[in-house]
Amino acid sequence: MNQHFSGSLFMVAAPSGAGKSTLVNALLAQEPAIKLSISTTTRPPRPGEEHGREYFFTTVEDFTARVDAGEFLEWAEVHGNYYGTSRLFVAEQMRAGTDILLEIDWQGARQVKKQFPQAAGIFILPPSIAALEERLHKRGQDEPHVITRRLLAAGGEIAHAPEFEYVIINEEFPVALSELTAIVRSARCRFAQQAARNASLFAQLGIHAELHD
Ligand code: 5GP
Repeated sequence: MNQHFSGSLFMVAAPSGAGKSTLVNALLAQEPAIKLSISTTTRPPRPGEEHGREYFFTTVEDFTARVDAGEFLEWAEVHGNYYGTSRLFVAEQMRAGTDILLEIDWQGARQVKKQFPQAAGIFILPPSIAALEERLHKRGQDEPHVITRRLLAAGGEIAHAPEFEYVIINEEFPVALSELTAIVRSARCRFAQQAARNASLFAQLGIHAELHD
């Protein structure tokens, strides 16, 4: 069903501290046509975070009511808080042919993949466990017990890396960013995406997109 859409759906996952958000933000600055889905979460905002920019912050009661109403394309409990992706946002962007990027965990990625098999799964790895620990401490935004919980969870998240098509090792930031950019650009050149985006050219050239599955 996804091949009728000209946009691509990207899912980026990583253990906390792998540098995922920094990489994603740099990608978005460089590729403004990609829209980041802003998730809803029950996690309290960190200093500097804004409602509607990093997340839509809400209560557990509101979140569960929205789960029951089917408002989330996917949702999961991560590090003791709930996180979910708006079904409406993704549907609207897909209809418009926009590329969408979801920053979600492996549980969410699995749910999305079931609904959109062509979604590209990208997993960001730290160069070492020591680097992961150092980044979590340096960030200085979380309480020590939260950092410990995230480090323990990192192993669990990393265990699911094999479910993703692409892996980026974030050792040298510019290299990691160029790899992420390369993945995004290659997805845009997939037959289905090119056919949907250039329907009249394909028709002129007598290329029948339906032969390609
Ligand atoms: P943080 O609390 O550090 O912002 O995010 C923790 C983790 O929650 C992220 O690494 C990401 O994997 C996950 N996450 C954020 N938003 C979503 C979402 O909408 N759905 C799912 N399944 N996971 C999310």
